[in-house]
Amino acid sequence: MGDYAYAAPATVDSTVELLSSSANSGTRTQVLAGGTDVLVQMRSTDRGARLIVDIKQLAETNVLSVGEDEIYIGAAIPSAILNENAELKGLLPGLIESADLIGSTQIQGRASIGGNLCNSSPAGDTIPALIANSAVCHIVGADGERDVPVEDFVTGVGTNCMAPHEFLLGLRVPTPKGNTGDAYLRFIPRTEMDIAVAGAGVRLTLDDSGACTAARVGIGAVAPTALVVSEAADALIGTQVDDDALNAAADACSAAASPISDKRGTVEYRIKVVGVLCKRAGAIARDRAKA
Ligand SMILES: Cc1cc2nc3c(=O)[nH]c(=O)nc-3n(C[C@H](O)[C@H](O)[C@H](O)COP(=O)(O)OP(=O)(O)OC[C@H]3O[C@@H](n4cnc5c(N)ncnc54)[C@H](O)[C@@H]3O)c2cc1C
Repeated sequence: MGDYAYAAPATVDSTVELLSSSANSGTRTQVLAGGTDVLVQMRSTDRGARLIVDIKQLAETNVLSVGEDEIYIGAAIPSAILNENAELKGLLPGLIESADLIGSTQIQGRASIGGNLCNSSPAGDTIPALIANSAVCHIVGADGERDVPVEDFVTGVGTNCMAPHEFLLGLRVPTPKGNTGDAYLRFIPRTEMDIAVAGAGVRLTLDDSGACTAARVGIGAVAPTALVVSEAADALIGTQVDDDALNAAADACSAAASPISDKRGTVEYRIKVVGVLCKRAGAIARDRAKA
């Protein structure tokens, strides 16, 4: 591991001040949440010197609240805490499952959804589920606070829209209303502890007749960034979310995909699999919405 310094500011303001002054002086900084990406990268692919700025001790990054209109998930909350929250699991089972897929029990004691998003990997498992749930990033920096939809946050492989003086405080997720369900599925070559070949998240709302009135579909690991697929949502809205509608949504996801071939799968395979996952996740979300 390369040289590093460590700071754990006690307030949001002092964190922003530290990030700003470091950026102005040319000091490389890196925010630390659970460290399950950071420490692995520091030991392998990126040994450069830096100042680690730990945001886990901030009250604001540990807020977890369920309101009538908004669920707020602080950026430092590990997936183990989310998994223990029965109310959250009942409201957003797909999003919580996407966090539960990350690593092992040990990893989940540290790994946060915020870190998964900020790491900005094309295959980050929570990102398509966040997109499907219309989640919004709550960012703070020297210019104040701003909100950015998750689908606009990641700008490329490992890059995102935050300036060096900014960090993610938390995620705002619209509280599901009425007959609403979500689901996330990924495919990996092994049974666990692997990187997604493809992933798909779906959230939809049904009316009392079972017709779909709203839908969002996010896909991952099949493009440089996770994508919102509005054509797939359009294929579901107004239908009973039957096989025809799910097949049309699957086709839309396959059409939106622009993957690479690597040791986990070829372009053709990923294009096929992301459609299959959308269809299956859509059926689970539909059944959850009916339950
Ligand atoms: C064994 C193992 C298995 C894994 N399995 C999976 C898996 O199945 N699926 C998957 O998607 N990932 C997996 N991961 C990767 C990793 O665990 C996840 O991406 C995790 O969610 C990262 O969260 P973290 O809190 O540990 O982030 P950290 O490592 O602390 O940070 C990750 C990145 O985000 C930045 N960052 C973190 N928080 C903030 C913030 N609030 N504001 C600004 N920047 C921030 C950091 O600077 C860093 O660049 C695995 C990792 C390991 C070691």
